Amino acid sequence: MILVAGEILVEIMADAPGVGFRAPIALTGPYPSGAPAIFAAQAARLGASVAMISAVGRDDFGAVTLDRLRADGVDMSAVSLGDRPTGTAFVRYRTDGGRDFVFNLRHAACGALRPGKAAARAVAAAAHLHVMGSSLPIPWVRRLVLTAAPQIKARGGTVSFDPNLRREVMDSPGMAEAMQAVLGMTDVFLPSGEELWLLTGTRAGDDAAALADLRARGVGLVVHKQGAAGARVHAAGTSAFCPGFAVREVDPTGAGDCFGAAFVTGWRAGLPLPEALRRACAAGALAVTRRGPMEGAPWAAELNAFLA
Ligand code: ATP
Ligand code: MG
Repeated sequence: MILVAGEILVEIMADAPGVGFRAPIALTGPYPSGAPAIFAAQAARLGASVAMISAVGRDDFGAVTLDRLRADGVDMSAVSLGDRPTGTAFVRYRTDGGRDFVFNLRHAACGALRPGKAAARAVAAAAHLHVMGSSLPIPWVRRLVLTAAPQIKARGGTVSFDPNLRREVMDSPGMAEAMQAVLGMTDVFLPSGEELWLLTGTRAGDDAAALADLRARGVGLVVHKQGAAGARVHAAGTSAFCPGFAVREVDPTGAGDCFGAAFVTGWRAGLPLPEALRRACAAGALAVTRRGPMEGAPWAAELNAFLA
């Protein structure tokens, strides 16, 4: 069982690119979202056994996310119905590719969760923990990850870590320490772009220095996401690159989460690294072809057809 803990939310997107939300604009949504939820949905669609720890509200936004994740096959037994509303993210793309957000997370159901017996059962059943850096500002997620990761590793399990750095979030108290603690327990590190150097404190572009730093911490696999260009996996003494697949990008949100889910699922299933990487790149590419954070996440049959 692969376990992921963190926010479930709905995303509501501005129809037209532009800056912010200071005037009435046309919006489309709700789309099920949240980085951990996208990861879980993608892993389940590829046949992995995957469970989530989270909470949604007793509202239509909760129902739409629960229905979607259940239909994908995610074990939702540790996702509770809170008294607060489901988390929301309003997002508007700028013409330069940047994004403006209005979030309601901390004061939403997923932010207020107090993990109970169901969460403890999910941790006990986990063979692998996937950590989303973007979820670590939520205090219960941070506590859960920092206690569950050592337990899961102690019984022979593994940990993957996608930093998913959001600038707005990096400065929240304790974040840097939590990130470093997680990195020290990570088997598979999945940074995107500059995250490779930011978290290792190495000079941008110096792959060798970053990889030496990670090796010294015991990180066995580094999978470096590079957007439309593709991705590279580094293992002890070897590396393999997979160029990005040519697709028409409609909505880039969720590519990294789908990529990570496909890589972890393939790696846990024992695929050779270049094959796990190829499947991950294909999942990331398909993810961007549909509007909505997890609408493009391929089922196994779609992924296989695309690769064929
Ligand atoms: P996110 O915005 O979800 O956090 P990320 O920055 O973590 O994404 P990316 O590098 O953007 O991750 O995307 C992950 C992978 O998905 C890439 O390495 C690539 O293989 C694939 N991918 C992303 N965008 C495209 C694209 N436009 N065309 C083809 N493949 C893509
Ligand atoms: Mg990312």
